[in-house]
Amino acid sequence: MKKNYINGRWSDAVSGASRGIVNPANGEVIALVADSGAEDSALAVAAAKEAFYGAGAWRRMSGPNRAELLYAVADTIKARTEELALLDTVNNGKPLREARADVADAVACFRYYAGLIGKPQGGVYEVGDGFGAMHAYCLHEPIGVCALITPWNYPLLMAAWKLAPALAAGNCVVFKPSELTPLSAVLLFEIFDAVGLPAGTANLVLGDGPGAGAALAASHDVDMITFTGSTRTGQSIAAAAVGNLKKVALELGGKSPNLIFADADLEGAVEWAMIGIFFNQGEVCSAGSRILVEASIKPRFVARLAERAKAMTIGDGRHDPDMGALASEAQMNKVLAAIGAARQQGATLVCGGERYIEGDCARGFFVRPTIFDDCTGAMDIVREEVFGPVVTIQGFTTEQEAIAMANDTPYGLAGGVFTSDGARALRVIKELRAGVTWINCYNPTFNEAPWGGYKMSGYGRDLGVHGMAEYQQVKQVNINLQPGPV
Ligand code: NAD
Repeated sequence: MKKNYINGRWSDAVSGASRGIVNPANGEVIALVADSGAEDSALAVAAAKEAFYGAGAWRRMSGPNRAELLYAVADTIKARTEELALLDTVNNGKPLREARADVADAVACFRYYAGLIGKPQGGVYEVGDGFGAMHAYCLHEPIGVCALITPWNYPLLMAAWKLAPALAAGNCVVFKPSELTPLSAVLLFEIFDAVGLPAGTANLVLGDGPGAGAALAASHDVDMITFTGSTRTGQSIAAAAVGNLKKVALELGGKSPNLIFADADLEGAVEWAMIGIFFNQGEVCSAGSRILVEASIKPRFVARLAERAKAMTIGDGRHDPDMGALASEAQMNKVLAAIGAARQQGATLVCGGERYIEGDCARGFFVRPTIFDDCTGAMDIVREEVFGPVVTIQGFTTEQEAIAMANDTPYGLAGGVFTSDGARALRVIKELRAGVTWINCYNPTFNEAPWGGYKMSGYGRDLGVHGMAEYQQVKQVNINLQPGPV
């Protein structure tokens, strides 16, 4: 039985409840974990509050020592790569090589933020007009108790994206992973325990959203909540956070456009479009799920994309197929329902469009890579996030039309453009209302650069120096250089 980690101790849910964790490649229960509720979240928040405002061991620790512990976390994650990768593969369904890449990214993320601790922050300002000589400087301080909630598509990596900067900034945290994919997070907290983070600094609560998660959003003892997940849940978290005006950062859904102009290298565009929509089974918030392609090359592009999609191998992630299982039966059913609705609404099915049940896969939750052509901006399949291996194709004839179609969405997380005209690439990117963009590639992400959305894809940024700043307060300090009467 996998347990909560609160105040440096492993504990069952107060209610004693547990939940079976399923391998989506075969439907088998692979672990039992604590199924926590509001009372467990309250205990974790109390531990983090005491650790931050009471003992203060973590926030008062010298920067180099704090960095040393985070480097030790990174080294231990690296040393346990195979265990962590296998946990994400059997829990989430993703191919093993992609899970290994996630572990490598998580290592780099902890190293990046450990390194950032010692870098210059803030500024010094000459001020004092009317008061004589004064100057001011800024202290960048931790926010306090931070609650971090993540989804199931990148179980370890999303944990790293939030825990590394929050801890580097000196906060005490309560982390709640998705109730569907908590296994790699439990191992990550075993690593925190082994390297010796002070008790209460990092707390783990295993439970679902309405129970354990909502209690964190509503708690008046939480100073900040940061969330990656669906837009609907993000809205409910923002509403609950109003109670004590805790700071909120939201990384939400997307329906991102991938624009292919006729002068693009066609083979390259096809390969990146494949990565854009079928990587991680399409369960990627930034997925290039709307391909907008110049009408003159659309037939050639669609034919080549379909050829590549049909050739994809599908299977248990442990055997490293091109594509693994979707993360849950519910997610598979949601994707199949969206496919059904698209057919009803008149989209042309080019390939896929059904559950994949060959061989052993009949027991798991697999969907064939799916391409819909002749889509219109009015169709649900073009407007709503599917979060699966399903892509829509629309044609355009002018750059202006392409930009208008790209921005015709309530979301604004990501977007890509393929063209050999450099000036056009920069023009189009400038017009895209999205926080993460690519030119002649799609989906690569780096710890050094900020990640986050416009519009209903949320606010705040993960990663980079912006990601650390999210978890900091800025304090202004004004110094009178001439003590005595004004
Ligand atoms: P979800 O919103 O259902 O759940 C995400 C997390 O929130 C889970 O841990 C869940 O337990 C918790 N939760 C659910 N209801 C809650 C509530 N009322 N209060 C507090 N917590 C609650 O999302 P999901 O289905 O796990 O993930 C898929 C979504 O995540 C997609 O929409 C996807 O686009 C988005 N996503 C966004 C990014 C990004 O960086 N923008 C990255 C990955 C996933």
